[in-house]
Amino acid sequence: MKELEERILKDGKVYAGDVLKVDGFLNHQMDVGLFRRMGEEWRRLFPQEVTKILTIEASGIGIACLAAQVFGVPALFAKKSRTKNIAGSVYTAQVESYTHGGVYTILVSKEYLTRDDKVLIIDDFLANGNALLGLLSLVEQAGAEPVGAGVAIEKAYQPGGARVRQTGLRVEALAKIKAMSPDSGITF
Ligand code: 5GP
Repeated sequence: MKELEERILKDGKVYAGDVLKVDGFLNHQMDVGLFRRMGEEWRRLFPQEVTKILTIEASGIGIACLAAQVFGVPALFAKKSRTKNIAGSVYTAQVESYTHGGVYTILVSKEYLTRDDKVLIIDDFLANGNALLGLLSLVEQAGAEPVGAGVAIEKAYQPGGARVRQTGLRVEALAKIKAMSPDSGITF
């Protein structure tokens, strides 16, 4: 998506440790007009039936909400929990954090994700793939149908894209970064 690539080049900052900061329009301050157009792009890429958008807190929520508005379905976000042993009325998965290190548990209520759902997973970044694989696990535990995953930015030189696509899930990234470094900048 040309508009997103141009915005990344204009406002993105590359940090050591393979982190792209996009706080000016995506991860802190949010350009909701852009989010809406991203939602429209995902709708074009995933024209099939979708009953729910699933994301992970916190930075996926904004883009998931605007996508959900375009699809006309609810947005559901997996909560991050410090408690490892949560049983009962929730589905849980373990996710290794890209930005903070460590492993945390994500969970959704069984009430809001069911076997009747056709789920489009949405997230801001795809790096090592752990966030998307955790979300996919929640969908599978619910017996719901994973329609695909839409990510805003895929760092395509990292292993996540291959790991997630290997499961058979269709992944569509709106901006695919081929290479990135603080010195030479960003290449799509
Ligand atoms: P993964 O689980 O694919 O390794 O990483 C995806 C998650 O890590 C995303 O939910 C995102 O919040 C965070 N992330 C990964 N890489 C970056 C990055 O370069 N910049 C920012 N801001 N977040 C990232």
